[in-house]
Amino acid sequence: MKHDVVIIGGGVVGSAIAYFLSKFAGSDTSIAVIEKDSSYQFGSTARSAGGIRQQFSTPENIRISQFAVEFLRDISTHLGIDGEKVDVSFTEGGYLFLAKDHQIPVLYNNHEIQKRENVPVALLDPEDLAKAYPWMNVSDLAGGSVGLEGEGWLDAYGLNQAFRKKAISQGVSYVKDEVTALTISDGKITSATLASGACISGGQFVNAAGAYADQIAKMAGIELEVRSKKRFVYSFSCREEIERCPLTIDPSGVYFRPEGHQFITGCSPTADKDPDCRDFDVDYGWFEEHIWPVLAHRVKVFEAIKLENAWAGHYAYTLLDQNAVLGPHPEISNFYFANGFSGHGLQQSPAVGRAIAELLLFNEYRTLDLSCFKFERLINGSAVREINVV
Ligand SMILES: Cc1cc2nc3c(=O)[nH]c(=O)nc-3n(C[C@H](O)[C@H](O)[C@H](O)COP(=O)(O)OP(=O)(O)OC[C@H]3O[C@@H](n4cnc5c(N)ncnc54)[C@H](O)[C@@H]3O)c2cc1C
Repeated sequence: MKHDVVIIGGGVVGSAIAYFLSKFAGSDTSIAVIEKDSSYQFGSTARSAGGIRQQFSTPENIRISQFAVEFLRDISTHLGIDGEKVDVSFTEGGYLFLAKDHQIPVLYNNHEIQKRENVPVALLDPEDLAKAYPWMNVSDLAGGSVGLEGEGWLDAYGLNQAFRKKAISQGVSYVKDEVTALTISDGKITSATLASGACISGGQFVNAAGAYADQIAKMAGIELEVRSKKRFVYSFSCREEIERCPLTIDPSGVYFRPEGHQFITGCSPTADKDPDCRDFDVDYGWFEEHIWPVLAHRVKVFEAIKLENAWAGHYAYTLLDQNAVLGPHPEISNFYFANGFSGHGLQQSPAVGRAIAELLLFNEYRTLDLSCFKFERLINGSAVREINVV
């Protein structure tokens, strides 16, 4: 089997690349996506919290999300097949970053950057916060920043499926198999060996393997400084309703948002509790000892909540700066990377899909210049620092 482009991993990023590439290139270009888990139960995408925000501190990350919002608002036009409606439950419920005194300079600095990028965002003082969110304890807060539109959450699995189905309708082949080895000849990848024993040859290869990206890179002898990090999401119910609840990020880093009639919450662990690992065990102690006390302090009615469910998921974490690694490898030039998104890969998938498709086809970015995320920065250590990491 020989394909022009072989994409390793058919999660939301691999499927977005497949969609844009097949749209731009037309049916003359043969594209295969190799996905080992067609149930998608173990990948990052279906286990994510589904959030999308524009409140970043890096202009590129802001522009990436702006494109995502534009795309999601008109998703049926992009991903509908034969006029069918596509619904990924995109809810523009907003993001609210809360800050204590010492966090105000960063909040204000981010605000300046966001305003320059035309992000509809507003700064709130404690009085504004108390008025807008009467259920919130603002006693220890110095301010907040809220997105006025174009932020919220969506059905992550639904978006993955919508990209995948549309890509298939445009001629992309999905192969259910696992890439176990890559063959290199004359400085280029020539084929991928699969667990079934099959071998797929290709002209260009894309690493879209999510939390397994470093393992795929290793198959080509490349050390990719991206690691799998485990995160927990807990869902809970509360007898009292709280109105107009955005995705709220407490100064402690604990976030919560509505999910139907319940809520979901989580918080990245401290560095000593954050090893590279692959298991899916849930740490309930993290909820009891760290998250619930923060929730109860911030929202009085959250003193009486019931933990309903919890899951663990892994995402790909770029050790240098927690930002994406995009584009070809400097030496193996037909090997492209779309990895290391940390906790923002779902919302980045439309822009990244389009960007990688442009690189594959035209050898340059034609819409959004994302060259700051190139692979070389991992080698020379030029980090793209994103301050607003959740
Ligand atoms: C708990 C949690 C919360 C998150 N919350 C958010 C959020 O609110 N907003 C946001 O934007 N992002 C969030 N993220 C991050 C987001 O989920 C990821 O960045 C995004 O889903 C990455 O997509 P992907 O396609 O790269 O990875 P994946 O969805 O993991 O897809 C990679 C695919 O590659 C396949 N694969 C791997 N190895 C092989 C192989 N050898 N052969 C064949 N196939 C292979 C896997 O089976 C998998 O399906 C969160 C992540 C987690 C874990």
